[in-house]
Amino acid sequence: MSDNIKKVILCKYGEVALKGANRRTFESAMLKDIARRARRYGDFDIYTAQSTVYIEPKEGAVVDLEGLKNSVSRVFGISAYCEAAVCEKNIDAIRHTAAAYLPPLLRGVATFRAEAKRADKTFPIKSPELAAEVGGVVLSSVPGIKVNLDNPDITVRVEIRERGAYIHAGQTRGAGGMPIGTGGRAMLLLSGGIDSPVAGFMMMRRGVTVDAVHFESFPYTGEQAKEKVLTLARILCGWCNTMKVRIISVTRIQEELRAKCDESYFTLLLRRFMMRLAERAAREAGAGALITGESLGQVASQTMDALVVTDDATSMPVFRPCIGMDKEDIIKISREIDAFETSILPYEDCCTIFTPQHPKTRPTLERVLEQEARVDVDALLEEAWATRQLITVSEDF
Ligand code: ATP
Ligand code: MG
Repeated sequence: MSDNIKKVILCKYGEVALKGANRRTFESAMLKDIARRARRYGDFDIYTAQSTVYIEPKEGAVVDLEGLKNSVSRVFGISAYCEAAVCEKNIDAIRHTAAAYLPPLLRGVATFRAEAKRADKTFPIKSPELAAEVGGVVLSSVPGIKVNLDNPDITVRVEIRERGAYIHAGQTRGAGGMPIGTGGRAMLLLSGGIDSPVAGFMMMRRGVTVDAVHFESFPYTGEQAKEKVLTLARILCGWCNTMKVRIISVTRIQEELRAKCDESYFTLLLRRFMMRLAERAAREAGAGALITGESLGQVASQTMDALVVTDDATSMPVFRPCIGMDKEDIIKISREIDAFETSILPYEDCCTIFTPQHPKTRPTLERVLEQEARVDVDALLEEAWATRQLITVSEDF
């Protein structure tokens, strides 16, 4: 019987609802993201009303609503979503649909509250009575369940909207943030570690379109290290669809630094080269900022003095969303986005090669520039830049 119920997905806006004159821009980016995902799961009508996105299967369409719900959980800009049953706007249809749709959802739930809302005020039954009706249906069809108005386990809602009556129970937290594509474009320095994928994710959640650049030291780093980075990029595509990854070899730079500079400066000097190459990659991609996974004090190259020296090598803004986070907090997000298991695979990274025994933790720019003057910066940059490969990755299906 429940198979005949028409089911839809409702998505509530997050911050987008607070936007003023430019709200349309944000709404349409969010709808575009949803429409792109929906195409994989069937034929849907998608529209907005009252800070809610409605995703409704077209008449007679065969759809995979569970699959789409799972994909919608990754749409930035949505604060919560739920499935709802839709029926005609009359009390018999509402009772009948509630009795068929709600019991399986409420099985094992101890307490509930029923709420009703009439966006369509022509509906003849007032909200408190309607809530009582639906509450009555639940009490008589779900064994053992009790009403708790103050602190229920689940809230059952019936909403009378223009197109029909919507009945739903409970909602799931959405991805939050701002719709993808509304926050400009930035270049993520993507290593194979834990922090940089998290940093990329955090900026994406603010609507930024993220490109990535990865530095390899072939043959010191192998094919598996590169594959790992591409896998991480693919994981991030779960939120952004596709990502352009540039891969640049810094092998010659590392060899030159090792031959000509003091060991304690290796990491910092390499990081300055990375910033310059990332800036070039950003300009080529039309990106206006860099993103790194640095966290203050995490390692020698991430002390405040070291970051000052690193930043001096680029004129672009550098976003470091992990800067004030503990490793534990970063790992929590890494697990939530399913990147952690990949990030901890044990392949060599270019930074783990030629790692100094005693890196400088309080470097001065003056000393670093003296060291840097021992190599031909421009020639090394040209040589590294010429090695770049561009790979476009997308979500696996
Ligand atoms: P992660 O976990 O992201 O690797 P980390 O704690 O290991 O970070 P570092 O190795 O010092 O820190 O790197 C700091 C940041 O520099 C990284 O978060 C990343 O943004 C960038 N980075 C480091 N190595 C590379 C690389 N091989 N390619 C691209 N970016 C890199
Ligand atoms: Mg690293």
